[in-house]
Amino acid sequence: MATGVRRVEHRPIRASNVTPHTLLDPGADVVLGSSVDDMGVEATSEELCVLTVHAHPDDEASKGAPTLAAYHETGVRTVLVCCTGGEEGDLQNPRLREAGQPFHGLTPEQERDVMARVRPGELAESARIIGFDEVVMLGYRDSGMLDSPANDDPTSFHRADLDEAVGRLVTVIRRTRPQVLITYNDDQRGYPHPDHVKVHEISVLAFERAGDPTWYPWAGPVFQPSKLYYTVWSKARMLLVHEAMLARTGSSPFDEKWLARPSHDERITTRLHVGKYLWARTGALRAHATQVDPTEPWWFGLSDDELAEVYPYEDWILARSTVGGPADDDVETDLFAGIADVLELPVESPGRLVDPSQAAAS
Ligand SMILES: [Zn+2]
Repeated sequence: MATGVRRVEHRPIRASNVTPHTLLDPGADVVLGSSVDDMGVEATSEELCVLTVHAHPDDEASKGAPTLAAYHETGVRTVLVCCTGGEEGDLQNPRLREAGQPFHGLTPEQERDVMARVRPGELAESARIIGFDEVVMLGYRDSGMLDSPANDDPTSFHRADLDEAVGRLVTVIRRTRPQVLITYNDDQRGYPHPDHVKVHEISVLAFERAGDPTWYPWAGPVFQPSKLYYTVWSKARMLLVHEAMLARTGSSPFDEKWLARPSHDERITTRLHVGKYLWARTGALRAHATQVDPTEPWWFGLSDDELAEVYPYEDWILARSTVGGPADDDVETDLFAGIADVLELPVESPGRLVDPSQAAAS
């Protein structure tokens, strides 16, 4: 299996800093939420569980699939919460309109009907490939891209009452008892989809309220997750993939707009070496046949083996923790660091990343 699992030094819990429901400034030190003891919960005595919250079917394939596959393989229970049914997704794979394919000769309205019927099956197949033990649909409607007409639908996710939506997620958290909760970044300027923004909002509040008995007393016994992570596509990864594809094919799908997207690399606290699990991303993306063009270099420009050579990591930002976090110049190599030793992945890591623009300037 893996070589030399490194134990990340964790800061001791700073009891004097325990402030329930404290929000973290971006880039600030990890601030403790309510302590585990306060909740009467000992996370390490329980079955290990990681719960990841996504907006639409296919988000689970593009963000964190190799990491979740790795945890599933080690026996950690993996739970996917998908907030919407992806009803506003367009057909992204034009081949499915060719003769003999399911979308051949359909009107746009008919396409939409077929799409609504097939997307649950695509999600189920993606989840099977990644290894999710449970998929929970939160039950909202896709809000569509920013400023699209679907934004006005009263059943859309971004219009949902915030406390009500948080209550739905808290109900799932209290039942499944995940020590690790994963959600989207607080800074979504790069892709400001209303549903993705809402995923972030409800997840942060659910992390704070799941262990608070004054919230949602009807939603089951309280449970305080220990860590909250944000998904992030590092700029380092984008640049390395960009260069590898230029070298290999002479072209890259990363244009100026992509390369100009803001970097969060200096906030990355956690890097998992998941090079041997990249099949989970590829397989899960292909399972979303209506949403992902299998010839699209954006997704498939490098093979799994090539990508594993170029950038075998998935990167994470530790946003909340009741069990401390890595020192400023260190990175974690396991989402369960401080809770349990779970992964036996290679730990070779370039360490903390810096913003490439700042690195170039200095
Ligand atoms: Zn999405």
